[in-house]
Amino acid sequence: MTFEVYSHDRWTIPLPEGHRFPISKYGLLRERVAGLVTVRESEPVPWQWLARVHEEALLERIRTGQMSTREQRGLGLPWSEVLVERGRRSVGGTLAAAGWALAHGIGMNLGGGTHHAGRDFARGYCLFNDVAVTLAQLRVEGLAQRAVVVDCDVHQGDGTAQILGPDPDAFALSLHGARNYPFQRIPSDLDVDLPSGTGDDDYLGELEGALDVALAAGPFDVAFYLAGADPWEGDRLGRLSLTKAGLRLRDELVLARLRGIPTVVVLAGGYAPDPSDTVDINAATLDCVLARAAN
Ligand SMILES: [Zn+2]
Repeated sequence: MTFEVYSHDRWTIPLPEGHRFPISKYGLLRERVAGLVTVRESEPVPWQWLARVHEEALLERIRTGQMSTREQRGLGLPWSEVLVERGRRSVGGTLAAAGWALAHGIGMNLGGGTHHAGRDFARGYCLFNDVAVTLAQLRVEGLAQRAVVVDCDVHQGDGTAQILGPDPDAFALSLHGARNYPFQRIPSDLDVDLPSGTGDDDYLGELEGALDVALAAGPFDVAFYLAGADPWEGDRLGRLSLTKAGLRLRDELVLARLRGIPTVVVLAGGYAPDPSDTVDINAATLDCVLARAAN
């Protein structure tokens, strides 16, 4: 049996010339890992499932193309039909990865981690909150109730914090650059603000301590790990200074500490000037996932 992962890279959105969203990384990642794993197309999640988490009025504006200019500016992506299809499939990939994780211990979506999407807002390249929608669906199906979110994207997970922060059966941890977007925060259960330029050793020490706190709030039925590539030292949007080796140690540490909990790994951000650097980091994460799946 080969390990299955999910991708929605074929739904490419039209972007203006020079746009910063790294749309090419998804297809490049699929090509890079194609020999190692089975890559399946992510299915679009039904609107009713999105409505378990997101406000109906927001979903209606997204569905019908009625997002205001201001909303589209906050999202950072122009509205199009394929943007919506892509967003629904990105959530579908995380749902599928969760199904794989519950059956086999760990699963991965080659997308997702759209943590800036909140109940009533879509911003920061994030249309729907894949982790929150997936957790809601697992609960409806009686497959999981208590969840921990380990968000290691360089940006604070404000959307996830809004939805899951007040949820007594979910613990949201976010470890991020103190001076990175979003500049108005919604508090997570635990936020770790790291100074600009934080390197491998200091980062890993802070992560270790934060995982101690998060896991003490357990037990958990499911874990979500946002393995953002943007804490990398060369990232255009991140202000931290981790090396590729340090990011790999980060992945190993998180996956070791979450052992025993079905774990869903999602990509989140990555804005290296050369997308192949982001793909290196994402592929190394998959390597760690496969190592944990094998043991
Ligand atoms: Zn990010």
